[in-house]
Amino acid sequence: MAGNENGSGNGAGPGKHRKFATRLLHFGGEIDKTTGAASVPIYQASTFHHFSLDNPPEYDYTRSGNPTRQALEDYIAELEGGARGFAFASGMAAISAAFMLLSAGDHVICTEDVYGGTYRLLTTIMNRMNVETTFVDMTDFEAVKVALKPNTKAVFMETPSNPTLKITDIAEITEWAKSHQLLTMLDNTFMTPYHQRPLELGVDLVLHSATKFLGGHSDVLAGLAVTADDSLGLRMKQIQNGLGNVLGMQDSWLLIRGMKTLQARMEFSEKGARRLAEWLSSHPAVEKVYYPGLEGHPRREIHEKQSQGYGAVVSFDVGSEERAKQLLGKVTIPLVAVSLGAVESILSYPAKMSHAAMPKEVRHERGIGDGLLRYSVGLEDIEDIIADLEQALR
Ligand SMILES: *Cc1c(COP(=O)(O)O)cnc(C)c1O
Repeated sequence: MAGNENGSGNGAGPGKHRKFATRLLHFGGEIDKTTGAASVPIYQASTFHHFSLDNPPEYDYTRSGNPTRQALEDYIAELEGGARGFAFASGMAAISAAFMLLSAGDHVICTEDVYGGTYRLLTTIMNRMNVETTFVDMTDFEAVKVALKPNTKAVFMETPSNPTLKITDIAEITEWAKSHQLLTMLDNTFMTPYHQRPLELGVDLVLHSATKFLGGHSDVLAGLAVTADDSLGLRMKQIQNGLGNVLGMQDSWLLIRGMKTLQARMEFSEKGARRLAEWLSSHPAVEKVYYPGLEGHPRREIHEKQSQGYGAVVSFDVGSEERAKQLLGKVTIPLVAVSLGAVESILSYPAKMSHAAMPKEVRHERGIGDGLLRYSVGLEDIEDIIADLEQALR
């Protein structure tokens, strides 16, 4: 695997020489400086007193800055190894803020199997702002190059993609993008900084739906962004303050709390996902399994070059809508729902959930058939998960 197995990034925080698991707990904001309290206080205030008009306070209004949110923003910047972090009201709030870096007349190259909400943002809102997008298969480098136009300003990546876990070569695309002065953005939701740190591969801006693995408990909606350098950080700060789509302090605190156990959760769930993928691969009722850790998964070697793990999401095809429905009706362990990356397992049916808005032909062309299911492995015992699926597949 790339880098080092134990995942020490090159974050700029207090413990950059330490391993990832340690940095998750000792990130600089874990002890309140005034009282010694063992967690960041929730500064439930919208505004701050000016003790002296000649010396404005560090924080003056919560939309522009709040100490609880700041602790979270510093935390994610440290984990991704970036310059500045930003917390937003949702993953889509973070992603839409990122697209505000563009101007009318600009063109974006975006991975074709991008998250549905991002697709919707680009095709129903950004297009009205006169920002045009070309969607390309990013596993095809030639197709990416062909998409370049004189007004191309940015490239948006997501890897592994959802739900068929296609692998984009981050370094290859980023290097090419830089040679054309394009801004590079990457949605790192599926991997988290524990498994993949795109800034180390040259990406300018990393985005997260922290609603998923980072929060980890299906109880908070949040988005995060991290910039590689300060100048992009200043531009993002201006956008965050201008749009006002910030994360509240209660949710900022809750997210910090969830993130402390990220490695413990990811490690456990990934181990289960590997076992599940192997088991599904040998099951006669399963036609196809998608998991980057499986031998034969397309471009697995590229994934291993840029990531330290395979994640906890396994997709598999049971052949037909009828059989998928039957399975969904019979499983007893997972939540049957959209979303992923939680302590409890979550089973989704992309054709009727996340990708319902996609025309059937396009959906099928992208390998998202009527029998495709997506299993996000939680923290239950994997043998119980398998026994549950076994009875449901029977
Ligand atoms: C869920 C998700 C989003 C959107 O995040 P929200 O928090 O729901 O707004 C973006 N990208 C990916 C990959 C996601 O899974």
